[in-house]
Amino acid sequence: MTDSKPDKRNATKLVEAGRRPEWTGAVVNPPVWRASTHIFATEGERQEAIGDNRDGRFYYGRRGAPTQWALAEALTEIEPGAHGTVLFPSGVAAIVASLMTVLRPGDELLVSDNSYEPARNAARGLLKRWGVTHRFFDPLDLDAYAAMFSENTKAVWLESPGSLTMEVCDVPALAAIAREKGAVSLLDNTWASSLGFPALERGCDISVMSLSKHVGGHSDLMMGSASAGEALYKRLRQTSQQLGQVVSPDDAALALRGLRTMGVRLEQSTASAREVAEWLSARPEVARVLCPLLPGSPGHELWQRDFTGGCGLFSFVIRGEDPSAPARLVDNLDLFGIGYSWGGFESLALPFEPSTMRDIMPWPPVGCGAGDRHGIRLSIGLEDTRDLIADLERGFAAMGEA
Ligand SMILES: *Cc1c(COP(=O)(O)O)cnc(C)c1O
Repeated sequence: MTDSKPDKRNATKLVEAGRRPEWTGAVVNPPVWRASTHIFATEGERQEAIGDNRDGRFYYGRRGAPTQWALAEALTEIEPGAHGTVLFPSGVAAIVASLMTVLRPGDELLVSDNSYEPARNAARGLLKRWGVTHRFFDPLDLDAYAAMFSENTKAVWLESPGSLTMEVCDVPALAAIAREKGAVSLLDNTWASSLGFPALERGCDISVMSLSKHVGGHSDLMMGSASAGEALYKRLRQTSQQLGQVVSPDDAALALRGLRTMGVRLEQSTASAREVAEWLSARPEVARVLCPLLPGSPGHELWQRDFTGGCGLFSFVIRGEDPSAPARLVDNLDLFGIGYSWGGFESLALPFEPSTMRDIMPWPPVGCGAGDRHGIRLSIGLEDTRDLIADLERGFAAMGEA
């Protein structure tokens, strides 16, 4: 799929990738190719296209058209080791289809206990009904994890840093153990993206991202992707086609637009997040900052060892048990919206309490008192950090007026 071009650096790839002249014509961006029907010049050409199932070959709308192909090709180019990328209508669709690609009834799936909740729910719900069993594991306990594999264990679901709680995992070690045991490893790589964590190069077999986050980048788009080497890419493609999943060319064009600036946006939000996290770590209201970017924060060393970048998403734990404190804080923020998703240009704050979500991993984290249970996840956008910090300062003042 990817041409054998000389290997450029990511910033350059983000500008060039997917802009084939046959897809863009004389303009810079591939136009929005709205299409169900593709027209063949001859019956012979139609016959040929049936079996030539790849991006770049016109056939029918369910196999995409140049706008979607350009996006998939661009994502493949920034994921070292990938042969191809399959697009999905949401991140969750990419997660579930990836798991269905590598599992069949009777198989067992190991799920990291810090995974995104809808991924856990897919294991507990749809995959269970489909005859796939699962067990949760603590990704920070490599020995216990290695001891869990049975001959039915066919796949491992990983996420690093973990959703909400931000534990950085030793993904190269977890993936190597899975491979040794004859299982494949899949990583939810939404936090770092391929720019910050080259998942396949680090030993994972499938790298999944919610493109609704950094790639979209403007809080106006839902999409997901899965990238893999040749064999698994072909199977992922089959799964998505058999499930009938397509993404619209309009959304693909938006995602491509987002992708062009993703590098600079990530650099800026990473720097801003580090600054806000550092400020938070000195606040008396904060029991613990959970931000891999910050020296002294859990997982910082692993992040430094394995990652090539970060993003604006991190969490902190409020000191004290008061269950109404999180609402008093976030209700009094002006610049931070209360809401899901993240990775947009605007900042967000989301209260969470993960203990009912998890099966194994302890909460609160090390360094917190037993009563420090309430977390706040921040997605730092592109605002000036001085304004964000002033906003948080006002929020804390209101939180203290109980
Ligand atoms: C948001 C998110 C997803 C799901 O993506 P959608 O596009 O919202 O379906 C998956 N994984 C992580 C870590 C996320 O934050």
